[in-house]
Amino acid sequence: MQVAAQCDTSTNVPFNERDALWPNYSPPQDLIFTHGSGTELYTDRGETYIDFLSGIAVTAFGHAHPHLLDALSTQSKKLWHVSNVFRIPEAEKLAKRLAAVSFADRIFFANSGTEAIEASIKAVRGYQAAIGKPERNRIIGMSDSFHGRTIAAVAASGNPSYVQNFAPTDHGFDHITWGDMASLDAVINEKTAGVIVETVQGEGGIRPLTSQMLNHLRQVCDARGLLLILDEVQCGVGRSGKLFAYETFGIEPDILAAAKGLGGGFPIGACLVSEKVGQHMVVGTHGSTFGGNPLAAAVGNAVLDLVLEPGLLENVLKQANTLRAGLEELVSDCPSVLSKVTGLGLMIGAKCAIPNVELMTALRQSKLLVGRAGDNMIRLLPPLNVSDMHVTQALNILGKEVRRLEQP
Ligand SMILES: *Cc1c(COP(=O)(O)O)cnc(C)c1O
Repeated sequence: MQVAAQCDTSTNVPFNERDALWPNYSPPQDLIFTHGSGTELYTDRGETYIDFLSGIAVTAFGHAHPHLLDALSTQSKKLWHVSNVFRIPEAEKLAKRLAAVSFADRIFFANSGTEAIEASIKAVRGYQAAIGKPERNRIIGMSDSFHGRTIAAVAASGNPSYVQNFAPTDHGFDHITWGDMASLDAVINEKTAGVIVETVQGEGGIRPLTSQMLNHLRQVCDARGLLLILDEVQCGVGRSGKLFAYETFGIEPDILAAAKGLGGGFPIGACLVSEKVGQHMVVGTHGSTFGGNPLAAAVGNAVLDLVLEPGLLENVLKQANTLRAGLEELVSDCPSVLSKVTGLGLMIGAKCAIPNVELMTALRQSKLLVGRAGDNMIRLLPPLNVSDMHVTQALNILGKEVRRLEQP
């Protein structure tokens, strides 16, 4: 394809450059970031944006954090990739560290959230087959979930819009309505192998499961010989105010998928499992070319250094409280714009009474970046080390725009 490119002189990027990409995303046309620092993103028109989206919970320590820069550049000069046919000390170290601070005993590294979910699904089916119950291969998910975009992950999600036009859709998943634990017993049968849920639902509308729901799930799984997968791709790695969100609820999963924040912007995913499950994932069961390569694992270790630093999780909870209090005030002052605040830690949803896109766009015009989520929410995912100053600035912008949009 030949294109006569016209350049936007302020960015030197041809406006029609997107013509060669799948049209599956719709970014604002005239906004291109050139660099970032901490919670701020800059355009080369000299504009500064406050980043309360963090690449959808990925840049957990903002942009260009010195410790992460150092880990990446040091490793990049030594070794990028050797393949898992050789030992990778950086990955072994990251796995040991993750196991030491979680329920898990064994970790598989992937490159994305959906790959961590795929590994989780295979771990459930592989376990049931290994203990002599291969007929148990169906997994129960909840409606309105998001587990990624591969064929199995969309089938797991229980969201008709994700599977539409991608038939066949039965890849071994059954569904219950989100949070409807009473219907679980009716859906479980002799073919059920496990259950998959997001500890805090992200894309579907920022909704944490309750302690009661998770305890019920754990009990049912134990009683019926099922494995429990928690999808913490978005809510894990410190975002909830605990290292993993399940710690908030006093239960442990058998399998946990992590990704987004784990690489701080470098692609890495992980499937964490207990020894009961992990002992069966032997040679030949699963693998990845790139997963856990030296570069990704070095950055993952550096992210973990920062998450485990004393005071970091306290900062998550403190800034979350300030943000939620500010948003609650706006809900009561401006009920025709905002109707409620939800979430856990620095994964905060504000349900809109106007179309969420309208508020998101207004905030962006005032240089605050937030995301959208289902159920007409806007989604706040600031870096975990966000400062008082940026929280104050963000609340000022939110206050200004929400009050402006409030019907008199
Ligand atoms: C983002 C996300 C995924 C998919 O992760 P990718 O890296 O986009 O494949 C899976 N589950 C949850 C809860 C997510 O938020």
